[in-house]
Amino acid sequence: MKKGLLFVISGPSGTGKGTVMKHLLETGEYFYSVSATTRAPRPEDKEGVTYYFVTREQFEEKIAAGEMLEYAQYSGNYYGTPKSAVEKALAEGKNVILEIETLGALQVREKMPEAVLIFILPPDIETLRARLEGRGTETAEVIDLRMAQVKREVALLSRYDYAIVNENGKALEAAEEIMLIAHTERLLTKRNPELAKNFEEYIS
Ligand code: ADP
Ligand code: 5GP
Repeated sequence: MKKGLLFVISGPSGTGKGTVMKHLLETGEYFYSVSATTRAPRPEDKEGVTYYFVTREQFEEKIAAGEMLEYAQYSGNYYGTPKSAVEKALAEGKNVILEIETLGALQVREKMPEAVLIFILPPDIETLRARLEGRGTETAEVIDLRMAQVKREVALLSRYDYAIVNENGKALEAAEEIMLIAHTERLLTKRNPELAKNFEEYIS
């Protein structure tokens, strides 16, 4: 069986990653990798669905045991991708999506160069702050912390394969652009070396 593709979605907090992902997951064509984190659960979080919530000690044990595909500290908490579920889903031919911050995304690029890195941008910085404030899930202090990361995050944009602007009221369109990317990536010649094999006797 052909291996699935690995998609990595990043972008500043509040840019709309979760909203866009929801549209993508509704298609049933993507396997979402549930991350582990040490941050406190929010009211809408569900253990094992949105995240695996662990202590710092448990997280550090997983790092030491080599169980993380990537991990990073963000706003004072650990976040990371458990390796085994991703490898299993890819081996089963599924398209896997990681929704992770930039430092983790670059670790994936190193370990799995065939991954497709997509960056979701807000239309502008004021809209980003308005979305974070409108979501109402963080305190003003945490919002400031997250806004302070934006410059560092956007500076890494050129390391990504694709950039998508999540325009106001257009999260579905942003998800559709990701579906287009997925479609195109599957057609890349480097991902289909077997096609030419059918014609080998005529080519040589
Ligand atoms: P992230 O997962 O990147 O932190 P969210 O998906 O939680 O961001 O979105 C942050 C806030 O912005 C949410 O309140 C969400 O409803 C809103 N939002 C997301 N995408 C759009 C959009 N295209 N237009 C307007 N509001 C949006
Ligand atoms: P939140 O606390 O809002 O759920 O997530 C904060 C940030 O952590 C977001 O930018 C999100 O993409 C990122 N994140 C979530 N899971 C992971 C992960 O497994 N690894 C890394 N590196 N970042 C993650």
